[in-house]
Amino acid sequence: MKVRIADLKDKALHMEAEEPVNDYPDLLAMTGTGECEFLSPLRLDFTVAREFDHIRASGKVETAVRVSCARCLTEFDIEISSSFTIFYTKSAEPLDEEVELAAEDLISKSYQGEEIDFSTEVAEQVIMEIPFKPLCRDDCKGLCSSCGANLNDTACGCATSEGSFKFNALKGIKIDK
Ligand SMILES: [Zn+2]
Ligand SMILES: [Zn+2]
Repeated sequence: MKVRIADLKDKALHMEAEEPVNDYPDLLAMTGTGECEFLSPLRLDFTVAREFDHIRASGKVETAVRVSCARCLTEFDIEISSSFTIFYTKSAEPLDEEVELAAEDLISKSYQGEEIDFSTEVAEQVIMEIPFKPLCRDDCKGLCSSCGANLNDTACGCATSEGSFKFNALKGIKIDK
């Protein structure tokens, strides 16, 4: 989502849009590495206003992702909703260099030229909302290290004995030091 500086008059400008994840390379990269799968486009809601010497953007981004539990590997869905405020001040930096960097993944709260592109900040907000090690539930028991059974669904029997044996062996090594 972008706003043209010339469109910012005395009143705040309200913008709503739905944008495909394909427009966001940083988010697309997450699906490429299998970190998550996006289930819906990004729903954006921005209010942008001139304020003293800066431009204030109050934004909201919503979407839904599917992730795998870090312990039991079961897939589950998460609703993402993030609200944020960004202050943009006009930068005195040379135009050419900044534009080039901004096209990559430079996180900048300054702007040059005639418009502000919110894409980088939007992607950043979404990424922050996706858990690094998602858990299907706080007390997920994970998978049995011997037989691979999902311990949330079943008590396979081998887990308890072998698990505690390994734990004791490990404890012994620590004490010897
Ligand atoms: Zn789990
Ligand atoms: Zn087992």
